[in-house]
Amino acid sequence: MPDQPQAHGKRFLLSLVVPMHNEEDSIGEFMTHVLPAVQQVGCDYEVVCVNDGSTDRTLELLTAARARDRRIKIVDLARNFGKDLAMTAGIDHAEGDAIIPLDADLQDPPELIPDLVAKWREGNDMVIAVRRDRQGDSLVKRLSANLFYRAIGRMSDVPIPANAGDYRIMDRRVIDALKAMPERNRFMKGIFAWVGFRQASIVFDRPARVAGASKWSFWKLWNFALDGIFSFSTLPLRIWTYFGAIIAVFSLGYAVLIAVRTLVLGVDVPGYASIMVILLFFSGLNMIGLGIIGEYLGRVFIEVKHRPLYLVRDTIGFDRPETAGAHAPKFADVRQDRPRGPSRS
Ligand code: UDP
Ligand code: MG
Repeated sequence: MPDQPQAHGKRFLLSLVVPMHNEEDSIGEFMTHVLPAVQQVGCDYEVVCVNDGSTDRTLELLTAARARDRRIKIVDLARNFGKDLAMTAGIDHAEGDAIIPLDADLQDPPELIPDLVAKWREGNDMVIAVRRDRQGDSLVKRLSANLFYRAIGRMSDVPIPANAGDYRIMDRRVIDALKAMPERNRFMKGIFAWVGFRQASIVFDRPARVAGASKWSFWKLWNFALDGIFSFSTLPLRIWTYFGAIIAVFSLGYAVLIAVRTLVLGVDVPGYASIMVILLFFSGLNMIGLGIIGEYLGRVFIEVKHRPLYLVRDTIGFDRPETAGAHAPKFADVRQDRPRGPSRS
């Protein structure tokens, strides 16, 4: 059945991937909601929790949760790598036929899991949970999110669905495609969109965070937006060609004007103000153009360094952790079974 996603009729393994950074206040609530929701599906499951360099009791609470349910597995990263990389680490380690990444703060309601699975089993490779509204978010965040989705929607080479977070279900073949994408700059919304496949969506209302505070400061969000735009669009680079062309045409006209005026009215020295304005304006434009090239150059620099995307300090609960980890460092990237080092299990 080459056209059907794996394991559709039969028993299958569902992986939940949960990036967690200082979520000690949310973990308890998260587990009490998420476990019944997956159990309702009636499949095998694993909950891959990625401890993204938490400085609180997140890891301790996760270990305790695993003592109660062995299907909770833990990837402990060496430091805080940020949500997108934590999610990549979790996806690399997850072994399910389908994977659902979701937030630990219950802003991605686990009650949707059965619906997502149902739509996946209908034959969709990816089912996206799209937010109907953002009641849980502040006005500023809602406005800026709106602006961002519109900007990137216009500029990106692939359509990036608006108001779709990372909450979705992905078939194993989508996962394999994701793993084949080596870029260091993991703008997951774009990467998810880029792979394509057969996509569907369901709509939900995004609730407020259950506990704790969002880790996204304004500055982080701004950088996130820039990452998104610069990794999925070359428009900012190309636009300078057009700017340059338009300015050249105007300059030519102005040159003719000056030449004619000098011929007719004679040499005319005053003009300090116009020269100054033009000079400042165009050096400003030059600077912006250079800055944009710098943005891309910086990203190229990061890519060519070819560092591992993330470093794993420890994994707990995986039988064959090294079979995963497409993006894990080479020294851990052993694809055959092999006696493992000092990992707790
Ligand atoms: N998160 C993470 N690493 C970070 C920041 C956040 O793994 O550096 C996790 C966090 O624990 C949560 C999810 O990413 O499970 C979403 O984070 P948050 O709620 O702060 O973002 P928001 O919902 O405001 O977009
Ligand atoms: Mg949140």
